Amino acid sequence: MHILFLSQYRRDEMHAISRRGHYIIDVSYQVFARKYRPQGFDDVLGQDHVVRTLKNAIGQERLAHAYLFVGPRGTGKTSTARILAKAVNCVHGPTIHPCGVCDSCKEISLGISLDVLEIDGASNNSVDQIRELRDNVRFAPRGKFKIYIIDEVHMLTQQAFNALLKTLEEPPAHVIFIFATTEPHKVPPTILSRCQRFDLRRIPAQTIAKHLAYIAGKEGVHLDHDAAGAIAVAAEGGLRDAESMLDQLVAFCGNTIEENQVLEVFGLTAEHIVSNLTRAILRQTAADALAIVHQQTEAGKDLTKLLGDLLGFLRNLLIYKIDPQSLREEISDHARVALEELAPALDTKQLLRLIEATSQVEATIKWAPNKKLHLEIALIRAIQTLSEVSLENVIDALENLRTSDSLPAEEYRPIDPGERVSPTHPPPLPVETKTEVSGPEEWAWPQVMAAVRARRPLIVSWLEPATPFYPERGTLKLAFPSDQSIAVESLSRPNNLRILEEVASEILGGSWKLEFELRDDLSVARVKSELSPGPIDAREAFKNDPKIQKALEIFQAEIQSES
Ligand SMILES: [Zn+2]
Repeated sequence: MHILFLSQYRRDEMHAISRRGHYIIDVSYQVFARKYRPQGFDDVLGQDHVVRTLKNAIGQERLAHAYLFVGPRGTGKTSTARILAKAVNCVHGPTIHPCGVCDSCKEISLGISLDVLEIDGASNNSVDQIRELRDNVRFAPRGKFKIYIIDEVHMLTQQAFNALLKTLEEPPAHVIFIFATTEPHKVPPTILSRCQRFDLRRIPAQTIAKHLAYIAGKEGVHLDHDAAGAIAVAAEGGLRDAESMLDQLVAFCGNTIEENQVLEVFGLTAEHIVSNLTRAILRQTAADALAIVHQQTEAGKDLTKLLGDLLGFLRNLLIYKIDPQSLREEISDHARVALEELAPALDTKQLLRLIEATSQVEATIKWAPNKKLHLEIALIRAIQTLSEVSLENVIDALENLRTSDSLPAEEYRPIDPGERVSPTHPPPLPVETKTEVSGPEEWAWPQVMAAVRARRPLIVSWLEPATPFYPERGTLKLAFPSDQSIAVESLSRPNNLRILEEVASEILGGSWKLEFELRDDLSVARVKSELSPGPIDAREAFKNDPKIQKALEIFQAEIQSES
C-alpha cells in the first residue's frame, strides 16, 4: 500500500490556520501557500545556501541516496524536497531547471506521481508501514528514480527507524530518500550519519514581506507596506504561516489590507507601541509606560503578547548594540530606526539587567489572573533596575578617579600572581598575637594586600586592621579589632568577598575561603593606618574626599548610613 498525501492541506497547514482560531472552509479555494508554492530552485525563498549546494550536486550528478532537510516549520523543507524530486525525475533530468511541463514534473507538482511518495512520519510511524515501504523500494520506478519524502521523520518509532536503517544501509541505485524534520535531535544518529543534511533557516522578515507584496500584486489585493511588514514579523520566519495569515486577511478584510487590520485580526501590537514602551522605560518615565499598558488593555490587547513583544524588542536592542548589521534583514525599517535611536541610551550590562527583570515576569504572567498588574509591576521594576547603580560601578568609577591623578602609577601596578615573595620581602604586619600567625602562608599576607590594592584600591583600607590566621589549609581567617565591624561588613559583601577569595587563591595556590572575626584582644592602637584612622573619621574623610564628591556628582547619588 502506498500512502499518498493528496489532501488539500497538510496537517501543519491545517494547524497553522486553526491555531489562529479560524478555518478556511471553502476547500475548492486554493490557499496561497499552495498556489504560490515554489516550483523551481530559484523560487525557494531565503535558503540560498541549501539551493546552491543542491544545484551543484545535481549539476555534477553527485546525488546522495538520502537527504535530511532540517528547519523550523514553514521554511520550505517539503517544497525543496519536491523541487529536488522534479529535478532528478524530469524527462530532461537530472537538471537544475526542471521543465515543469513534462508528465513527471506535472505529476509531482500535483502530488500524484507514482515515483514520488510523500509520507507523513507522524501518522505512518509504525514498523509495519516502514516494512511496506521497504518492500516497495525494490520495485523499479517508471521514471529515473523512486523518491520517498518522509515528513516529520523524527516521529517514526524506534522499530520503524531500525527497519528504515536496513534500507538505508544498502539502498537500491534507483532510490532517493528525502527526510524532513523540525527536530533532528530525535532522529537516531545511525540514520543521521547516512544522510546529507541541509539546515533551512528562518526566512528573514524583509524577504517574507516582499513575497507577500508579490502575492498581493498577483491577486489584485492592495497590501499596505506596513501591513506586509507586520505579517512578516508575526510569522517569525515561517513563510507558510505568513501566507496563511494573508489568506485570512483577504477573507476578512477584502482587497485592501492595512496595518491596523493585521494587528486587529491577529491581536498583535504595533511595532511603534513596543518601541514607545521601551523608550518610556529607558527614559524612566513610569507614567508614560503605564499609560501605554492602560491603553493596550482598553484596546483589548493580549498583555502576555505585549510583554513578549517588549522582550523581543529588548533582545533586538541587545543584538543591535553588539552588531548593528546582523539584524538588517530581520526587522522592519521602523524597528531599525527605533533601535538606532534607543541603543545609545544604555550600556549592555544595564540592558541585560533590564531583560532579566522583565523576563522574570514572563514566566508568571501567563497564569496570573490580573495580567495588567503583573505587567505594571514588571515595568516599574525594570525602570528601577535602570536607576540602580551597582556597587561595582561605584568602585570602578572611584578607582578611575583615584588612579587618574595624584597617586604614583606604580603603586597600582598589578602584581603578577605568579610572582612569589623573595626572602627580602618586607615582613608581615606587626601584630600582637604573632605566635598565632604561623604556617607556610605567613609570607603571603603582604602579597595578598598588594594584589588587592592593585585590583580594588578602595577595599584595601578595610583590610589594613586585619590580622591573618590560617586555621587550616584553604581557610584564611581575618581577625579585626572589635570596633572594626564596618570594615568586616564591607568586606563581607559578595563582590568584595569574591575578589578577596580570588586573590587569596591566586597567591596561596588552591582554593581559599575567607572568614572574618571580631576580637576584643586586638587593640585599635596596634593597627594604625593612614587610610583608616578610625571608623567615624574614615566615614567623614570618605565623604569629604573631593573624588568621592565628584563620584556622587557623576552618579547623582548620596551617601546613606547603614544602620
Ligand atoms: Zn520536467
